[in-house]
Amino acid sequence: MPDLLELTPDGLYCRQGDFHVDPWRRVPRAIVTHAHADHARPGCARYLCAAPGKLVLRERVGGGMPIDTLRFGESLTINGVRVSLHSSGHVLGAAQVRLEHAGVTWVVTGDYKTQADPTCAPFEHVEADVLITESTFGLPLYRWQDPAEIAAAINAWWRENQAAGRTSVILAYALGKAQRLAAMVDPSIGPIVGHGAVMKMVRAYRDSGVRLPSIDGVPPRARKVGNGRALVIAPPSVAGSRWLRLFGDVSVAMASGWMTIRGIRRRRGFDRGFVVSDHADFPGLLEVIEASRARRVLVTHGATEALARLLRERGLDAGTLPTRFMGEAVPDRRSAAADANADEAEPEDDDGADNDDRGHDRDDDGADDAESAP
Ligand SMILES: [Zn+2]
Ligand SMILES: [Zn+2]
Repeated sequence: MPDLLELTPDGLYCRQGDFHVDPWRRVPRAIVTHAHADHARPGCARYLCAAPGKLVLRERVGGGMPIDTLRFGESLTINGVRVSLHSSGHVLGAAQVRLEHAGVTWVVTGDYKTQADPTCAPFEHVEADVLITESTFGLPLYRWQDPAEIAAAINAWWRENQAAGRTSVILAYALGKAQRLAAMVDPSIGPIVGHGAVMKMVRAYRDSGVRLPSIDGVPPRARKVGNGRALVIAPPSVAGSRWLRLFGDVSVAMASGWMTIRGIRRRRGFDRGFVVSDHADFPGLLEVIEASRARRVLVTHGATEALARLLRERGLDAGTLPTRFMGEAVPDRRSAAADANADEAEPEDDDGADNDDRGHDRDDDGADDAESAP
């Protein structure tokens, strides 16, 4: 029985169905788990994604190419392969891809989390013969707190800053994390302000029917915003940029699973770190793998070898699946780092952690591209 998915230079390919899953290059038919840059490439001839994620995927890949959709749980047969999409709880519309052919089932999890998130559907457990799972946080030290406790900590920090006349700036990925944070905090504390890259996705979320609190964009040519009362949500690429000067005295926090490691926060000079991740923590990964009842597991992204070894010790047939560019010549460090882990790259010293919107507003004079565009 040949494998249902194989790794090719274009990424994961299903020969039986003649389609790719989260391809790395332009292909004729792409099934996309979610719209983060390392999973959704522009320029494919045809896309298939979960219905709730269509507008955010359109925002990512641009107009023109057709995007077909499936509701969660609905199935479609492509060249004899039965395809269905199941919520992965990661960001709006994020899906696990289930493939069934000749009595064998493969599931590609894409990125996922098991924690509750008011801005997207919850994770759905899916059984498989072969599971391809992410392992971004696949080490035992990664264990997330209850989201309600994290929200309380963010609210307390925001109030403290207000009392000191400081604007609170929280850095988070523009797609998913930013909207989740807006929905987590207490909007009665003060105004919430979004960077242009965040607002673009806020609009896509709202147009998709997700309820979010009121969030103000930054007007073009604004000279001063927030008056020390606001919570500003912006992508990590604005850290240290002139754009931040709009807000006067600020406290800058980073919201990321990597904030588990204090050294990363200190090295990057953030005033606070909040451990909020849209990926599963270590217990979450193990829970999902076990519930899948898969006998064969392929681990991709992050701590792959450590997790695969642990699974082998537990009697599973487990191996690793290379991420993009591994085993190939890496053109340059920056693009490899950017492409491999677009949504939750470890924030390194010289390299903005956010690749969604790299350079977007780094050098402008406070006018916000997305807001001032026609
Ligand atoms: Zn992602
Ligand atoms: Zn990813």
